[in-house]
Amino acid sequence: MTLDEIKALVRTVPDFPKPGILFRDVTTLVGHGPGFSAAVDLMAERVKASGADVIAGVEARGFIFGAAIAARLDLGFVSIRKPGKLPVPVIAIDYALEYGTDTLEVDPEAVGEGHKVILVDDLLATGGTALAAIELLRRAGATVEHTLFAIDLPDLGGGDRLRSAGITVHALLDYP
Ligand code: 5GP
Repeated sequence: MTLDEIKALVRTVPDFPKPGILFRDVTTLVGHGPGFSAAVDLMAERVKASGADVIAGVEARGFIFGAAIAARLDLGFVSIRKPGKLPVPVIAIDYALEYGTDTLEVDPEAVGEGHKVILVDDLLATGGTALAAIELLRRAGATVEHTLFAIDLPDLGGGDRLRSAGITVHALLDYP
């Protein structure tokens, strides 16, 4: 399956979650067996080349791609969760959203010193989520130098923000 064929499986939904936003919906790609498998294969190649030994993903769509890639490569997967979901003491980070703030949490026993982590998510927009997740993983003691997204929206500047923080950005598809 070609990248163009994979891209054609992503559904674009206008005016979601609010007017003027073009939402790139990966549920249609994930719902297509051969398409999802091809996307996971190509993303797994990037993880292999990065030298990372652990994959971390942000709830919820980061879990879909991150866990599938981890299983394909026999790597462990670390869940970065929204507040109050983990049943153990956590490390947390607050980060700014367009309006207000949000929080991400991780189990400090799941990741730490000696781990070379690649952060995986479905989509990179402003980079705020990825930067917060990377800071959280670093507070836990892990090394994080690489990120991998199914989709990059370069006009929203996340790639530039991550690169200027010294992070390598890999993306399967982009929508310039
Ligand atoms: P950022 O923090 O980079 O601005 O936004 C990225 C986060 O918001 C990701 O976790 C992603 O799942 C979600 N997100 C923002 N816009 C979209 C979109 O158009 N499609 C999808 N699937 N997720 C989005």
